[in-house]
Amino acid sequence: MTLSSPWRTDFPGILALEAEGQTYLDSAATSQKPQALLDALLGYYAGGVANVHRAQHLPGERVTRAFETSRAKAAQWLNAESPGQIIFTRGCTEALNLLAYGLEAQFHPGDQLVVGAAEHHANLLPWQQLAQRRGLELVVLPLDEDGAIDREQAARLIGPRCRLLAIGQLSNVLGRWQPLAELFALARANGALTVVDGAQGAVHARPDVQALDCDFYVFSAHKLYGPEGVGVLYGREDALQRLNHWQFGGEMVQVTDYQSATFRPAPLGFEAGTPAIGAVIGLGASLDYLQGLDATAVTAHEATLHAQLLDGLAQRSGLRVLGSPQVALASFVVDGIHNADLAHLLGEQGIAVRAGHHCAMPLYGTLGLSGAVRVSLGLYSDSADLERFFNALDLALELLR
Ligand code: PMP
Repeated sequence: MTLSSPWRTDFPGILALEAEGQTYLDSAATSQKPQALLDALLGYYAGGVANVHRAQHLPGERVTRAFETSRAKAAQWLNAESPGQIIFTRGCTEALNLLAYGLEAQFHPGDQLVVGAAEHHANLLPWQQLAQRRGLELVVLPLDEDGAIDREQAARLIGPRCRLLAIGQLSNVLGRWQPLAELFALARANGALTVVDGAQGAVHARPDVQALDCDFYVFSAHKLYGPEGVGVLYGREDALQRLNHWQFGGEMVQVTDYQSATFRPAPLGFEAGTPAIGAVIGLGASLDYLQGLDATAVTAHEATLHAQLLDGLAQRSGLRVLGSPQVALASFVVDGIHNADLAHLLGEQGIAVRAGHHCAMPLYGTLGLSGAVRVSLGLYSDSADLERFFNALDLALELLR
């Protein structure tokens, strides 16, 4: 069945790449941008910029209003109780590092931090390094065959020493949703904090932080059809109060003299220095764009296309998909062929996919692999993209065998 995306023409970047002979199947790394975002960026920069929060003049007030409106939009997008729970960061990576530094004082030697076996380095290394700094134990929850965290083992491993559970909602390698509700029930029963890395999850299902009942949720705008350089850290009100300040400078201070200072609460107390103002305003425009789409139609489109991707891969002999991806992507290996060679030959034919360890080296270690080729879809992807991919794949496999 030929499936076209009704939203494809909203994305000038995907059309430009197509005109150049490029088929973009790397949206899990970063997404193309809707025209609405480009318009917002141009409007902001061409309309006369100013810095936020510190001006008494009209341009400063106007920009501050637009900036704070984006905060309200992000809060609404996540179903947070209030915009004050939204901290803008540079992205997921910075948000998770903020948490690892900001929460450091909460933990004591012997405490356990718990992560999943499929974490992206961004949701592993900040906790690993925190564990090393504070003499904590990092516990890793193993996966079942499909690539979800094994519930029985999790029930055994999440115990009274667990002080924090940090889980990627949707693996960027295995494309599998994690059973967050069950895991968080275990964590809460033990009084542990809960963190969701929503880098991939936020893109393929509208997050609802109140329904998730998590303490913290992070995502990066650039994967969600927004600009680079901005991300969001949501925190539950009482959890935010447990955070220590971590970056120091302009705007985050209440009062200071040469020797000591008091700091503002969240969110501004965690946004030291001039933020990525244009990007934050752009994120607001991307969220508006997404709000305007028929979410059911987007989900149905992505599901049909994903099924076509899995079907096509299943038809190729000697090819193995990792885990059982549920949405948006598939990572695969081919017997006797190195993933880099395959991605190289695909790249030469204008197919943009990503090979390697996808910033999940320990996961690949447990799978006994050095890497894989990952195909990932966006809401603008269509079956013509997949047809070009499969034609190129067949030719590459013929050449490499
Ligand atoms: N977590 C996951 C699951 C990701 O896929 C990524 C990006 N590949 C990140 C975290 C880090 O996001 P960023 O590079 O935007 O900080």
